[in-house]
Amino acid sequence: MTEYALELEDLVMHFGPVRAVDGVSLQIRKGSVLALVGESGSGKSTVGRCIVRLLEPTGGTVRLADADITHLNRRRLRPHRRDVSIVFQDPAGSLDPRLSVGDVVGEPLQLMRRRGDLPAERRDIPAAVAEELRRVGLRPEVAQRSPHELSGGQRQRVSIARALISSPRLLVADEPTSALDVSVQASVLNLLADLQRALGFACLFITHDLSAVEYLADDVAVMYLGQLVETGPRERIFGVPAHPYTQALLSAAPVPDPATQRARRPVLLGDDLPSAIDPPSGCRFHTRCPVAVDKCRTVVPEVREIGAGGHRVACHLVNDDGTGPDVRGNPATRTGTSTGTSTGSTEVTDDAINEGVHR
Ligand code: SF4
Repeated sequence: MTEYALELEDLVMHFGPVRAVDGVSLQIRKGSVLALVGESGSGKSTVGRCIVRLLEPTGGTVRLADADITHLNRRRLRPHRRDVSIVFQDPAGSLDPRLSVGDVVGEPLQLMRRRGDLPAERRDIPAAVAEELRRVGLRPEVAQRSPHELSGGQRQRVSIARALISSPRLLVADEPTSALDVSVQASVLNLLADLQRALGFACLFITHDLSAVEYLADDVAVMYLGQLVETGPRERIFGVPAHPYTQALLSAAPVPDPATQRARRPVLLGDDLPSAIDPPSGCRFHTRCPVAVDKCRTVVPEVREIGAGGHRVACHLVNDDGTGPDVRGNPATRTGTSTGTSTGSTEVTDDAINEGVHR
């Protein structure tokens, strides 16, 4: 039996000429959290939608535990539906306003009942809904209300209750707090973290919020223009980021302390993300990379393992021992040893990356 809740092998998703995802391979260990980070337009939400099969991939393989679900039709996909759930960014848009909260949360169990695979302990659906609402910090009476009578934070709790009521092995959380007021983001993140630890499901956490990544994730995958450029354990990615793009992301994330923030020199990347219709040749990052060399324009860098613990990077200039350039100001002085330092960051925005936050 596999140790992974999810395996993606060379996943490809093209929309006509748009190469949204172009050869993504990653694994999520059972019971662990992998954060997928990158700018808007990098393709990370498309990866999430392929995993829950809202999209049928153009190529590659999606394996849930031991089941290849890449091209299953609706009927053959049904038995696997309960194994994977998704929480979307915008709870207002993802909850059907014609249904009560109770109907929204209980709907996955109704579908399981129709398929004949509803577990005995869930047969009393109203009781199961009440239990799930309590678990996400809502009173059971909320079941009678419409989602639109609730606040944004409450609606996202309803979305989480609906996603977890079928006891999935994998949860895809697609920017689950970015549409919420800052004041409630932390409580929803805490809830997700508590539920993940208590219930033990694996999670693909898609986000811009690097402080949440530090808090929640076991592993991190960094995506740029449809491809992964760096993956590895969280402490390696935050401590010794090897890829220039990862270094730029971390340098552009604001820190809470004003003095530290003033002293920082975020990396200026300049141009916007290139078009996914005609991505740059060679290394896709070469049009924005501060340390690009001639080879970068013509030769695609292979993904290589550097150091211990599954730290992998796609960059010509990173050595096999993990040493290489540091675009944050110390070219060629970065070592492969984790410092355990962190950004203490809050949120990295596309504007911050493009403008380098030189205030
Ligand atoms: Fe920069 Fe070249 Fe490395 Fe790409 S391969 S990140 S362009 S140095």
